[in-house]
Amino acid sequence: MAEATKKPVVEEVKNCPACKKPLKKARRFYRNGAYYCNSNCFKKADVDIQAAKAKAAEEKAAAKAAAAAAPAAEEAKG
Ligand SMILES: [Zn+2]
Repeated sequence: MAEATKKPVVEEVKNCPACKKPLKKARRFYRNGAYYCNSNCFKKADVDIQAAKAKAAEEKAAAKAAAAAAPAAEEAKG
């Protein structure tokens, strides 16, 4: 009975970031470090990623501008 010691082969199932469906090994579509169902789901997710990046860049720029606009904030404390 050597079968008992055998580890079950666990197929790694990840979910598509775009439609959240579980991805089957043979059907996944690899782009930019992530797996998707197909190019359509990649495009859908990519839109969100680009939007998030743009938003993050915008917030970073806003924070930088705010920091530059208020250099006396530290002095006011002391
Ligand atoms: Zn998908």
